[in-house]
Amino acid sequence: MSQQTSSFSKDENRDRFVAFSFAASDLLLEVTIDQKISFSAGKVESLTGQTATKLNNKDIYDLFTSNDTNMIYALLRGAQKSGRSGPIMVSIKNSKTNKAYKAMMMGMCLPDNDHIFLTLNATPSFLEFLASSDYQDSKLLDEKQFEASAIKAFQDAKKSSKSLDVTFIETEKIDEYKKSMEHEDAVNFTDNLQMILKQDSYNGNTASQVDENRYCVIHGEEISSDEIEEKIQNLINKTNSNRGVFDPNNIGVKSKTVEADMEVLSEREARRAMIYTINQIEAEGLDSIQDDLSKSFDDYLQENADKITSLKRLIGQQDFKLNFQPIIYIPSEEICHYEALVRFDSENSPFELITFGEDVGIAPDIDMAILKQAIGYLQKNLKSAPDLKIAVNISGQSIQSEDFFNKMLDLLDDTECSPKNLMFEITESTNIGDLEKVNDYLQRLRGRKFEICLDDFGAGAASFQYLNSLDIDCVKIDGKYVRDAVVSPRDEAMVRNLVRMCQDLNITTVAEMVETEEQLKYLIDIGVDKAQGWLFGKPNSKAEYTKR
Ligand code: C2E
Ligand code: MG
Ligand code: MG
Repeated sequence: MSQQTSSFSKDENRDRFVAFSFAASDLLLEVTIDQKISFSAGKVESLTGQTATKLNNKDIYDLFTSNDTNMIYALLRGAQKSGRSGPIMVSIKNSKTNKAYKAMMMGMCLPDNDHIFLTLNATPSFLEFLASSDYQDSKLLDEKQFEASAIKAFQDAKKSSKSLDVTFIETEKIDEYKKSMEHEDAVNFTDNLQMILKQDSYNGNTASQVDENRYCVIHGEEISSDEIEEKIQNLINKTNSNRGVFDPNNIGVKSKTVEADMEVLSEREARRAMIYTINQIEAEGLDSIQDDLSKSFDDYLQENADKITSLKRLIGQQDFKLNFQPIIYIPSEEICHYEALVRFDSENSPFELITFGEDVGIAPDIDMAILKQAIGYLQKNLKSAPDLKIAVNISGQSIQSEDFFNKMLDLLDDTECSPKNLMFEITESTNIGDLEKVNDYLQRLRGRKFEICLDDFGAGAASFQYLNSLDIDCVKIDGKYVRDAVVSPRDEAMVRNLVRMCQDLNITTVAEMVETEEQLKYLIDIGVDKAQGWLFGKPNSKAEYTKR
């Protein structure tokens, strides 16, 4: 990075590096709360026409065309409010060439730092991709993206003890209405409708289309469903006055607002209840739903009571098996340790059942039962294999529980389990709320020399926040990135920078789901320490490994 970083502390440099490497972007700008540029790195001169030194202290808005001002203002506010915001499309003014360069900008704030980090990507191929029709069609979030931003919104609301509302909108004949228009008018109408929903949504980023005629918006309490309905009705009236084909009153905009009281619900409960509500609307319409997500969550629990009881029984009776998958050093391919992976009824993945267990709040029971079985396996096998070491997965939900943590310490003491034989992977499937408390627990485990690995790095939106707040020994790079790094330059840059950063921070790296020689070669090239995947061994009922 730029030479001027040398006068900054290690933490400041780390923050910048984290933000920059994550976005694998062309330009990084750091902005103070009074919206002045305090640091820049990347393609500063070629994009802005000015040197990094010249940019210092400049007003951030001066770098962009005046059309962008409002959007940038909203982006900065969004990042301050919720940690991350964007992306938005902006035009960077180049003072030398007088040209404007289109770029995708994202904003990010890190804990304990009031500066805002802006990352800009101006790579032509990336922008071409964004300009493609696929991207334009999906202006509202798809189901998966919506779930991810919903959980982020619920998490933010929980932190600030706020309540959010979820408004479901049903527009009976809107699809027919659109079919009656010329193609271009229909596209414009859809764009405007989506814009209205996005504008009212929390962080501008939590609106989704449920099906052809239904939408869902998460928003602050200050916005009422009547307001949203009125805006949609106005849009219909305005469009209709030019056309006169449809009686706008026939379109039938209906909405229902459901309260999400985050003092009562956990983020996961709120998300689960929301998905449950969406399914209910799809099956039975708007009138069938409760007016409060906590009531919907109770309905959900009620409906799944049998499944919960049978999962609890499986756990209580230790009616499950463990499989073990080798993790090896690269390039030597010598064994390092094995990951314990639970199997409930068959060889099938436990993922669905584990996340269900997390949603209904019994992850700590599941993890404790698995930990007991893993320690039992060690006790049986340590005589013949004294170097055997097992990594046990602990859900982010469990490690937030004081009761779980104390029981875990007691179990480790009672069984005299040695850190030579046991370590932990913290899975990211649940969002961790109180990072300070979790870090305290992790440090107490590390104080006893148990190694801690952050699992599925990159899979969730909060990975870098976790890395920033939790002192850990190891990062496991999510399998998706291992797969994509050999085909996508963007993922490649992200993984390479992540590995470099971990090296700087003295954190070892493991790549999971390594399936091909090409992936292995790449991982060796960029200096990853360890690997796990079918190339070396599938999960097996015995912790055994034979070198290829
Ligand atoms: P994870 O902890 O990231 O585990 C790695 C997953 O990748 C395992 O899936 C493993 O079987 C799979 N895998 C390993 N190598 C390859 C490969 O080369 N190719 C492919 N396609 N897959 C590979 P599994 O066993 O289905 O587990 C899924 C997830 O369920 C785990 O992800 C973890 O989040 C959770 N899980 C599994 N066992 C436990 C457990 O004992 N406790 C907790 N809390 N979670 C568990
Ligand atoms: Mg794992
Ligand atoms: Mg993983």
